[in-house]
Amino acid sequence: MKEDDSIEEEKNINPEYIIEDVKDQNFDNNKKTYKVIIIGNTGVGKSCISFRFLKKQFNDQLPATISLDVSYYRVKINNRIIQIQFWDTCGNDEFAQKTPNLFKNSSLAIIVYALNNMQSFKDIYCWNNILNELSFDCIKYLVGNKSDLERVIEKNKIENFVDSYNFSKYFETSAKSGCNIKELMDSIVISLYEKFEKENENKSDTISLKKELHRKKSKKTIRGCCK
Ligand code: GDP
Ligand code: MG
Repeated sequence: MKEDDSIEEEKNINPEYIIEDVKDQNFDNNKKTYKVIIIGNTGVGKSCISFRFLKKQFNDQLPATISLDVSYYRVKINNRIIQIQFWDTCGNDEFAQKTPNLFKNSSLAIIVYALNNMQSFKDIYCWNNILNELSFDCIKYLVGNKSDLERVIEKNKIENFVDSYNFSKYFETSAKSGCNIKELMDSIVISLYEKFEKENENKSDTISLKKELHRKKSKKTIRGCCK
């Protein structure tokens, strides 16, 4: 394993949110867990990206993913814990199609290609079709990995693709240098929070506000009675 030689920037991508690491990584079974699935051709760096997310290091000795590796991660956003289950798949589209449960209940999907590999870029089309068929309502991210190597895919081609296929976000990362990995992770956490948690938070804020108003009102009433 290599020491962290990254140029990972610790900048916060959205100042509205405070995202913090959580020491206690023990999962709370009573709390909702978000499934994030990582798909794309073999060799584009899916496992290295997952490893970077969790261990903040690059490991060039990772064994090939046989079918699926699941890892768990807890992170805090604005004082709220988000529990994520990462499903790191092998790059076999046939396996993906024959295993629809792989996609079931995914909250977010990341399609990864390698910026130095044209075939992996062309195959996004196929991965996107599989995704739309098997998990049409999840949040979609596109990631071009290996930005430390010479790119063969022009930027304008990617922009067209991102617009036409309704990806929520696009990132260019390097699992090797760490470039944009934190930004990608933070963005995932924010997307999950905004789509699934913020509404509940607002609801619970409204409930607490209503309770507070009710408490004040009944206090007034009681006072009134005792006068
Ligand atoms: P996967 O099949 O998509 O899971 O790909 P892996 O994560 O196993 O990586 C495949 C190969 O690409 C390995 O030799 C990694 O060391 C290498 N690799 C992964 N990410 C990067 C990267 O960002 N830059 C470079 N240069 N190599 C990478
Ligand atoms: Mg893998």
